[in-house]
Amino acid sequence: MKFGGSSVADLERLRLVASRVVARAASQPVVVVVSAMGKTTNALLAQARALADPPPARELDMLLSTGEREAMTLLAIAIQALGRQAISLTGSQCGIITDHQHGRARIIEVRPFRILDELAAGHIVIVGGFQGVSYKREVTTLGRGGSDTTAVGLAAALAADCEIYSDVDGVYSADPGEVPDAHRIPEISYESMQALARAGARVLHSQAVQLAEERGIAIYARHSRPEHGGETVIRRNPVVDSGVLAIASDPAVAALVLALVPGRARLAPQLAVALAPLGLRSLHVDERGATGLLSWTQRTEAGSVQGRIGALARHLRGDLLELRWRDGLALVSCVGVGLEDRPEVGACACEVLKAAGVEVQQMLTDARTLTFVVMATQRLLAVRALHAALLPVRTKLEASAT
Ligand code: ASP
Ligand code: MG
Repeated sequence: MKFGGSSVADLERLRLVASRVVARAASQPVVVVVSAMGKTTNALLAQARALADPPPARELDMLLSTGEREAMTLLAIAIQALGRQAISLTGSQCGIITDHQHGRARIIEVRPFRILDELAAGHIVIVGGFQGVSYKREVTTLGRGGSDTTAVGLAAALAADCEIYSDVDGVYSADPGEVPDAHRIPEISYESMQALARAGARVLHSQAVQLAEERGIAIYARHSRPEHGGETVIRRNPVVDSGVLAIASDPAVAALVLALVPGRARLAPQLAVALAPLGLRSLHVDERGATGLLSWTQRTEAGSVQGRIGALARHLRGDLLELRWRDGLALVSCVGVGLEDRPEVGACACEVLKAAGVEVQQMLTDARTLTFVVMATQRLLAVRALHAALLPVRTKLEASAT
């Protein structure tokens, strides 16, 4: 059972989680993974940055890992207060071995001996998510949202089910706060989940889904309060897996315009090599320069991408005509399966956006997404129009049956 930061944001919610865990542990052994309480990680990050920006990566990992330590110990205390034996363990103590990349480490191996011993002793085990230990014995963190990955990694190592509890009862066909008609998707494939994440939906940590797919682990995404009974199962071969599944959007995107002085075609390959690893969407490089899209949703990464492009521009100096970012853009995506074989979906989406008065700046496609670049001010309008047109309205009866 993994609980996210909002589910353990204060002592009251922590107590609710404790009683839910205790109830579950009456019938089977339970390992719990927790995230840091509420916005703790942001607060720690802000403190470090106030002292040095960027902060030294090793110290930052030591600092950020304490957020999960606070949550795990308090949860263990809350569970013991209910009369059950519980023990908290750091990522390092439960054998989560990672590579050395501070701030975005990847799990290499899980050696869960300590967890197995504690379970055998009848204890509920509480693990601090988001952290591991490298072969150099340094504490590492797995990237923002990485507790999901801890949960999947442990589920795989323990041959357990992986249940991820948060403040939503699953994955929706659009953000229900923005689209009241949005419905919960009962089952979804790993690939569609990844496509949703790339399209800007705030869903599970991408490495977690990748690891689940590799290890064949099903993930049950549920609400942390039992009164919200729904769930989405992320698994291989879900029942419904065709057509448009959801509309997702990325609200803050900037377009890069990098122009070379005419006659500098020889620099194009160098430009392509420098820009390719930065992860810009729809990157295009030719003899005149480069264009691409940068999402601001991941602000920390966006900042470093901008910094690296700035450095590249200084390196190009006299060969550079212009470097500019066009702000105020958003991406609105239809995410689904087999969209490349269904040109009618794209045609319909274009019609719908036109009728709604949305001005499409650019269109990008791949097998799982049909993405429209629009002005940020028209994002919500586009999301609602596409959802209404492309996602069959399900009757209340149908929805309650799932
Ligand atoms: N506490 C970490 C974060 O805020 C990890 C997590 O929440 O999964 O990114
Ligand atoms: Mg989180």
